[in-house]
Amino acid sequence: MAPIEKQDVGLTVQNYIKDNSVVVFSKSFCPFCHEVKSIFQTLGVNFHALELDLIEDGDAIQRHLLQLTGLRTVPNIFIKQKHIGGADKLKELQRAGRLKQIIQGEMAPTEPAKPKTNYDYDLVVIGGGSGGLSASKEAASLGMKVAVFDYVIPTPLGTTWGLGGTCVNVGCIPKKLMHQAALLGQAIKDAKSYGWEVPDNVNHKWEDLVMEVQNYIGSLNWGYRVALRDKNVDYFNAFASFVDPHTVKSLDKKKKEKVVTAEKFIIATGLRPRYPDIPGATEYGITSDDIFSLPYPPGKTLCVGASYVSLECAGFLHGVGFESAVMVRSILLRGFDQQMANLVGGYMEQQGIRFIKQCIPTKIEKIEDGTPPTLRVTGKYVETGEEIIEEFNTVLFAIGRDACTKGIGLEDIDVKINPQNQKVICDKSEQSTQEHIHAIGDILDGKLELTPVAIHAGKLLARRLFAGRKELTDYVNVPTTVFTPLEYGCVGFSEEAAIQKYGEENIEVYHTHFTPLEFTVSHRDDNACYGKLVCVKSEEMRVIGFHVLGPNAGEMTQGFALAVKMGAKKSDFESLIGIHPTNAETFTTLDLTRRLNPQPKKTGC
Ligand code: FAD
Ligand code: NDP
Repeated sequence: MAPIEKQDVGLTVQNYIKDNSVVVFSKSFCPFCHEVKSIFQTLGVNFHALELDLIEDGDAIQRHLLQLTGLRTVPNIFIKQKHIGGADKLKELQRAGRLKQIIQGEMAPTEPAKPKTNYDYDLVVIGGGSGGLSASKEAASLGMKVAVFDYVIPTPLGTTWGLGGTCVNVGCIPKKLMHQAALLGQAIKDAKSYGWEVPDNVNHKWEDLVMEVQNYIGSLNWGYRVALRDKNVDYFNAFASFVDPHTVKSLDKKKKEKVVTAEKFIIATGLRPRYPDIPGATEYGITSDDIFSLPYPPGKTLCVGASYVSLECAGFLHGVGFESAVMVRSILLRGFDQQMANLVGGYMEQQGIRFIKQCIPTKIEKIEDGTPPTLRVTGKYVETGEEIIEEFNTVLFAIGRDACTKGIGLEDIDVKINPQNQKVICDKSEQSTQEHIHAIGDILDGKLELTPVAIHAGKLLARRLFAGRKELTDYVNVPTTVFTPLEYGCVGFSEEAAIQKYGEENIEVYHTHFTPLEFTVSHRDDNACYGKLVCVKSEEMRVIGFHVLGPNAGEMTQGFALAVKMGAKKSDFESLIGIHPTNAETFTTLDLTRRLNPQPKKTGC
């Protein structure tokens, strides 16, 4: 931009203010300017930002703004040609609920605000996990005064952790890193076939893995604290419970009490692993809350349960060299496509993980101290009642997770919970039976227990509560992946659910087994991978279910989920040209139906 003559600076500023409804005189590196721009973006307001550090006359404009407004600092904001001030003033207007009205021309910036209610906070969030952190940061970015309470009750073994909730500390993050450790073990085995001179005995050191994983988690915990501080969110490491509908009381580690009030609340307290009611379970068993920081190698491990957590843990433990078994009460991966679930299990079995089927544990005894100890597990086959006794070093219970709604005073303030699962009952806007109390994440009744779901819901909820936005979280067609030795990714309907909804005759399944190119040279698992599309005939073969078993299934599923969400038909998959040589291209060339080809195997390009 050509330099503006001195006398023109005033005119330039005047024109900007006249020609744009919302103007931010800004600097591209200034965090307060970023904050202000993000408030406007979140409110869906068009604004014009003039970055004074990026134009030649920035200094001259800034001097002129000082004369005009008495303010030299940025951001310097004008709305509808009226001077507003800086970031603090904008946030004040937003907190008072006046910003939108000023932008819409319904109120002058100088008009006195309606008296605000006298609460300590605009929003208190109970639970600093995926959902709670997302909602609190978003609300604070919108200028709200926010507090987060997060407290971890130690496991029976004494394990505890920092800010960030399940995903970061004892869920997705350590799990995926340990899954990667297992995949690397396989890669070392494959490497020989690719010319690497790998020694015959490559050992894995559990303690080193735990240390690296825990160091990384520590950095994330710190990052979350800093992010809250930067956004001016008050963080209390204390257990919170309701005293009345607008008041919570909290107790920290030292039993110090704090009472705060708020206009609105979000409950995001998540779930904790359940223990079976059998002798020795809590004394000698562990759960996913302990495994990722276990200071000694777990040794021969029994994973009890047959869903995500159990199969994933058994998978990575086996992958890093521990003998592992899974005790299955009924079926694998309840709720998932059962053909896929059985393929997941079949591959694990083929890799050497033992499945003790139709069996439940009845007693755990310690027969020898040690790190790890030796435990005697007694179990019972469900159908025959026959007893099974076997020794393990570690018993990991993954038999489901209980909602953290007990002891937080919900019953006293009339927030209804589902008596079957103790989760909070909410409407589609995540509002509980109390208008000003909402729930998100794992604690929300009838919704998915996944991190991105909690994060998304938290962000949109904060925008609805404080920015007048309307968008609801769409809980349909959420993709997910089970990180077992061969990953299983899916989105949409399982075959069973599709048949139930549309009728068997109306469903066509296109499928194939396949072998990743990378498996061939190392002579691995011919045709172990599998993909299928579940289509509805009466809707021009709309794809309502995508399922894949193979390496990097999560990465693949994320992309294809967009197609399924947008209503893609089988013909859209066919008209898409594949990327060669990949596993994903399989989905562009599927031409065999289950009806005519029950066992399709791929033999070449
Ligand atoms: P959480 O993250 O559990 O946070 C709740 C927080 O509130 C916790 O810190 C809790 O201690 C605290 N709290 C509870 N009560 C109180 C109270 N009264 N006062 C103060 N604080 C309180 N999801 C995926 O999407 N991908 C995965 O790969 C994946 N892997 C997983 C692996 C494992 C082993 C597990 C267990 C879960 C996994 N999940 C995964 C699920 C994911 O972790 C959860 O869906 C997600 O963490 C839910 O977030 P949330 O905010 O609802 O609750
Ligand atoms: P689930 O509730 O999904 O599964 C519990 C499993 O334990 C079932 O197989 C169940 O068998 C079995 N079980 C229940 N009670 C007993 C018992 N007394 N004895 C033996 N077995 C029993 O729990 P998870 O903890 O696996 O997962 C919780 C949630 O966490 C998931 O729904 C998922 O959303 C999330 N998650 C997501 C992951 C990802 O995205 N990759 C990974 C891990 C968790 P039965 O079928 O017979 O009832």
